[in-house]
Amino acid sequence: MSLARFKNKAVDPSALQQLSPDNPALREGRTIFPSTVVGSFASPRLLVSGHNNPKLGKAVTKGERRGWPIFHLTLEERATCPRSCAQWSGCYGNAMHMARRHRHDAPFLALLKAELTALAAENPRGFMVRLHTLGDFYSVAYLQFWADMLDQLPALHVFGFTARREDADDAESRRIAKGIRWLTGQAWDQFAIRFSRPDTAPQSSIVLDADSDDPAVIMCPAQKLAPEACASCGLCWAPAARDKTIGFLRHGMKRRTPAGSGRSISPQDPAMVEWLREKGYA
Ligand code: SF4
Repeated sequence: MSLARFKNKAVDPSALQQLSPDNPALREGRTIFPSTVVGSFASPRLLVSGHNNPKLGKAVTKGERRGWPIFHLTLEERATCPRSCAQWSGCYGNAMHMARRHRHDAPFLALLKAELTALAAENPRGFMVRLHTLGDFYSVAYLQFWADMLDQLPALHVFGFTARREDADDAESRRIAKGIRWLTGQAWDQFAIRFSRPDTAPQSSIVLDADSDDPAVIMCPAQKLAPEACASCGLCWAPAARDKTIGFLRHGMKRRTPAGSGRSISPQDPAMVEWLREKGYA
């Protein structure tokens, strides 16, 4: 079984580009690809198989969760994120013009619940949901939705990252972050969410410009060792690694380079474009 349909390529932080400070997407708090944001009813599915994502993979390949399928949910970057996020300008969503971003509109949670319930029935042993490929927990009520789903669907297991911080300037971010801290404390096994921070801390992640030799940091192997993916790694949710910081090399929009000089996860790859169109993702 292949881990992922598309291979990850090496990340080169030195080739990345920030948005210009006067880019309206920064001021308005939205993606730079507004045509990729779809309403819930217009989307064929909210939860997409990890097979379509080079970093995730189709299903867990080792450990007690072996065989559990992986899905991911993509929201709109910035529109659901705190302005305090350290990656507000350099968000890797700036390089993801093919991603289908889901609008958190009125029917969103009801449709998401229906999909989660169906997946739990199909996968009673367990299944994984990566939150959020883009975007973040946008309200306390949305976090409560996940808490309720964990209670109702024991097969559901979530992992991911948040830029919400307990020491954030804005009160809403602090409330969301405290809620995430509480929920992960109650149910890390089902809800393994790490806090994205500028420093190392237990249960966190950090974006770096180069590999770290700090023993508290484990560099994400999916950025280096193709075809390694979350499916074959599992560090982010492993209880033994909970107190570590997961390190990611900075990735996102690249500076323009001469044709053929190499983008990494090549959203322009003709095979990828054709496949995404065929599946209705583009
Ligand atoms: S450390 Fe492992 S589980 Fe975490 S993001 Fe990287 S590949 Fe996925």
